[in-house]
Amino acid sequence: MTAVALGLPTPRTSTATASHPTPTSGPLRDTFGRVARDLRVSVTDRCNLRCTYCMPADGLDWMPGDKLLSTEEMIRVLTVAVRDLGVERIRFTGGEPLLRRDLEDIISAIAALENRPEIAMTTNGLGLTRRARGLADAGLDRVNVSLDTVDATRFAQVTRRDRLDDVIAGLAAAADAGLGPIKVNAVLPERADLARLPDLLSFCLAHGYELRIIEQMPLDADHAWARNQMVTADEIMATLHDHFDLRPDPTPRGSAPAATWLVDGHTHAGRPTRLGVIASVTRPFCGDCDRTRLTADGALRNCLFAATETDLRGALRGRRSTEAGPAAVDAEIARLWRANAWAKAAGHTVNSDDFEQPARPMSAIGG
Ligand code: SAM
Ligand code: SF4
Repeated sequence: MTAVALGLPTPRTSTATASHPTPTSGPLRDTFGRVARDLRVSVTDRCNLRCTYCMPADGLDWMPGDKLLSTEEMIRVLTVAVRDLGVERIRFTGGEPLLRRDLEDIISAIAALENRPEIAMTTNGLGLTRRARGLADAGLDRVNVSLDTVDATRFAQVTRRDRLDDVIAGLAAAADAGLGPIKVNAVLPERADLARLPDLLSFCLAHGYELRIIEQMPLDADHAWARNQMVTADEIMATLHDHFDLRPDPTPRGSAPAATWLVDGHTHAGRPTRLGVIASVTRPFCGDCDRTRLTADGALRNCLFAATETDLRGALRGRRSTEAGPAAVDAEIARLWRANAWAKAAGHTVNSDDFEQPARPMSAIGG
């Protein structure tokens, strides 16, 4: 058995005192001095794959359609985020975001805002062959496509669907549509997957995609995650160092979750090819986190692992919203969001004995 280092989030000192109440203006600050500029938006909890580390084989009870934010509600909330709360980057995710037919409409509305944010999407790639060009035309800047292995048999085991060729075609369509730099997100559900990792990196290098390997987190709907079974960043790097010449990327990491390396001897579009490892469990980066999250049913979350949420849908649809008028509703959304951000904890507690997995699985939060 491999020992797992217990990474603890970098501690920060809270400034919360009676003289520092929740801010009533400005960006999304928390009491530890962090400012959330990066918004993850889950547009649906549905998915057409059933990755073992995310969804049960039979899927989940999907949220009823009337509980999801409509196109107009989504655009309205995202407008408040950009216009009033200083959000600079928006990433659409899910569930599978391409299952939402109005994604192009939402993206083109956000792309038309003053202070246009950077707009990205994380997708399993199914359907990109049809939609990549239209999404790029709407204003999508770049994509991350999830692909855990290029071994067709293993892909079908992990995703419980035989769709590897469609994902590979989706990646090519994204590249053709100019949605780069394209990143490939990979999770290694089992230690045996380490042996397949060099082939996945070789595939990415051959196509100019940047591989991002993510440590598996306890966010699966089956609650099957086990600390002693998860593949660690150290094991991932040891495997890659055995097969490739890697050197640490000198670019400052900032608030990026991935620690990055340059793959010597490989360039793409004149730039050195990067590889990233996201060690959310063994080396948490909570101290530099600049994320806030919105779920498809209109709940705000200040952390993937947050135990509490803030409902925005009530503010959008409640009786008071029709009486109060649009400006007052926007102000209420901003107020609720600032309070949600202010309450953000110093870091996640995955490595504590008293950790409890959030009630929402990854597919309903948005990764
Ligand atoms: N369906 C899209 C996809 O798979 O890219 C978007 C949603 S998915 C929840 C977003 C990302 O979360 C994917 O890259 C996926 O691999 C990752 N993910 C899902 N479950 C995870 C887990 N338990 N631990 C770590 N990453 C996970
Ligand atoms: Fe679907 Fe993405 Fe979860 Fe896989 S990781 S089941 S593609 S939401």
